[in-house]
Amino acid sequence: MRGDPDVLIIGGGAAGLFCAYHLRRRGRSVAVLERGTVGGAQSCSYGNTGFVGTHGAAALAEPGMLAAGLRGLLNPASAVAIRPLADADQLRWLWHFRRACADRSAAARLGVLVDMKRRSLSMLRELAADRGLGATFAMPGMVLAFRTDQAFERARAGLPAMADRGVPLRALTPAELRSLEPDADFAIRGALYNEEGAFVRVPGFIVELARLLVESGVEIHSQAEVTGFDSSGGQVDRVRTTGGTFRPGHVVIAAGAWSARCARMLGVRLTLQPVKGCSITVRAPGNGPRRPVLLAEDRVAVTPLGDQLRFAGVMEVSGMNPAVSSRRMAGVRRIVRAYLPRMTSTETVETWSGLRPCAPDSLPFLGRAEPYRNLYIAAGHGQMGMGLAPAGGELVAQAIAGEQADLDLAQFRIDRFGKPSAGRRS
Ligand SMILES: Cc1cc2nc3c(=O)[nH]c(=O)nc-3n(C[C@H](O)[C@H](O)[C@H](O)COP(=O)(O)OP(=O)(O)OC[C@H]3O[C@@H](n4cnc5c(N)ncnc54)[C@H](O)[C@@H]3O)c2cc1C
Repeated sequence: MRGDPDVLIIGGGAAGLFCAYHLRRRGRSVAVLERGTVGGAQSCSYGNTGFVGTHGAAALAEPGMLAAGLRGLLNPASAVAIRPLADADQLRWLWHFRRACADRSAAARLGVLVDMKRRSLSMLRELAADRGLGATFAMPGMVLAFRTDQAFERARAGLPAMADRGVPLRALTPAELRSLEPDADFAIRGALYNEEGAFVRVPGFIVELARLLVESGVEIHSQAEVTGFDSSGGQVDRVRTTGGTFRPGHVVIAAGAWSARCARMLGVRLTLQPVKGCSITVRAPGNGPRRPVLLAEDRVAVTPLGDQLRFAGVMEVSGMNPAVSSRRMAGVRRIVRAYLPRMTSTETVETWSGLRPCAPDSLPFLGRAEPYRNLYIAAGHGQMGMGLAPAGGELVAQAIAGEQADLDLAQFRIDRFGKPSAGRRS
């Protein structure tokens, strides 16, 4: 037996590490299991653009998204693509996703996401100020660029609603854009600006957060893949891994896109699908943007990382294989060129693809998993995991500690798309 922490967290990405952070602050003994290494490329928290803050918090489930995804299969330059598989779990997810796209409660869910992102931003600012993570976090504001009048006008019309939610978005004049971004020459029809736009530099941020956790007493076990569980009487008793067996007080599944597979070993159904995406990191050209920019219509994000520049995009629902086709990667480059046609093309440093863990309604799964008394989930943060995980981790820690949660946990319920399945595979 390896040890008996109060809480054993499965998964060393942003979701798992922030659960560990908040639990350790509450005095719990905590261990994290990671099948690879923390900060490794297998994790979705590795090569993303790290946008955090309230910029334009947008749910994946939006009107028209399912149709756009199906059309996108034929178009490699499309931002979204959905490839239906002969897979019951994916079809179930798509069915709930279609409902969420049409659902009138979408606006309320957006409000929840904005609230979580604001809470997370204040935690990140605190961490950056007090705990030595400052080199991996910056808050230079964020630009949302629009290539068509139609999309810009639609976004501009939505500004009062965003302001009501406390998102400080405003339209930029061309002169203001030039003074914010003097090096970049945009071919766009309009831009918005959010002064609360911030970003974390990954994977450095994840590596530094893990270091801080270890210093505070959290055990991190790398190369420890969970392979099964032993349970009895509504209690998870043991967690079996390739690095030994653990007998924790509580278990948190925070295994990103692999969380559904892990939960299924205990007969718990998570309606979660991977939505794959990719990033391309190049040497920074002298005439690129200085701050994070969202190429809004095409959902491509651009982040400056010192002497490098990273572009990220593609939302493809097509199963667990993380590989993104070279045609789609080329599509991302084409999109960047369309918004920034005169930006000098430079050497590619790295290409990467990852699996976003997505719930059909774009809200994460947070809280206790029935019928177990000591099993919790922190998964499904979708395309905003870096921006939601700090607040999500606190909600899970509050649930484990038996504290009053800061937000209503009912909206994050694990079984909101159906009760646990009977079949259990361990
Ligand atoms: C191209 C792209 C761009 C993105 N840009 C942004 C952005 O700008 N802002 C933002 O907020 N979000 C962004 N995201 C989303 C964000 O990356 C994810 O939401 C977030 O990383 C999910 O974190 P996680 O901890 O849930 O999952 P992960 O980071 O994937 O971590 C889960 C970990 O669990 C481990 N694991 C799995 N199974 C087991 C097992 N059986 N035993 C032990 N360990 C296991 C995995 O190895 C993995 O390291 C982007 C994603 C992509 C793909």
